[in-house]
Amino acid sequence: MRQLRDLLQEAQQNGVAIGHFNISDLVLLKAVFAAARELNVPVLVGLSEGEREFVGTRQIAAFVRSLREEFDYPIFLNADHTHSLAKGIEAAKAGFDSIVFDLSALPIEENIRQTKQAVEALKAIHPAMLVEGEIGDIGSGSEIHDSAPDLTKGLSSPEEAKQFVESTGVDILAPAVGNMHGMLRSMVKGETKKHLEIERIKSIKQAASVFLTLHGGSGTDDADLRKAIGAGINIVHINTELRVAWRRGLEQGLAKQPEEVVPYKILPFAVNSVREVVGSRLKLFNGRQMAQGA
Ligand SMILES: [Zn+2]
Repeated sequence: MRQLRDLLQEAQQNGVAIGHFNISDLVLLKAVFAAARELNVPVLVGLSEGEREFVGTRQIAAFVRSLREEFDYPIFLNADHTHSLAKGIEAAKAGFDSIVFDLSALPIEENIRQTKQAVEALKAIHPAMLVEGEIGDIGSGSEIHDSAPDLTKGLSSPEEAKQFVESTGVDILAPAVGNMHGMLRSMVKGETKKHLEIERIKSIKQAASVFLTLHGGSGTDDADLRKAIGAGINIVHINTELRVAWRRGLEQGLAKQPEEVVPYKILPFAVNSVREVVGSRLKLFNGRQMAQGA
């Protein structure tokens, strides 16, 4: 079985990106896995500290590993937004394939110092685990926001990116390039889209020459995502779009069967609703032809 690093290398060579989808229950995991298998593309599922707390760190690791083994399928597991070394060690011991060690809220010197320590400590436990570091400000919370925060001061520069990568030894970098966690109400309605700073991505890639992740991909303009991948983005995170689809599917399942109490008759509506979103994002990230009108 190929490792995540090999697949990232391959994606980079092919000018495509690996989709990263956050999950916090079995419905979301089933939907992501089904969508990836339909397209036969590798996929990353991620859980933040809060999502891991709900599902169980060791339990989700066992579940994803069982899918990988039974179906001989390249599905990988990421410990998303981890803010302490203790939580990172927990994920490393559970066998997560990668981790986002996120101290981007700290001043850059402190971020560098603690991220370097974390890279060393985590790789001592789990040498194959890829460690991602984060710089700049892209807001917090994959939720629906009423107004957009001003993130212009938190944009990443190529110099800062290069210094951070060289000083910490991270395998992957998450820069701030116009992206934002969560979605505005107008984005959920499809009235507005996020836009990315493509030139900034290009110069960061050139300066840091490392794998790059785009966080907060939900609600981003399709053409911008395509260009960002062309400019050097290797992983794209989608969370809020899935959460919106999960809720809509669940509501539909309950509304269509008002008397039903059997979970496996209600929940497939949520699985299908999420699967459609994941499938359409995976097609875009993997350069597949989109269906007309999709
Ligand atoms: Zn994120």
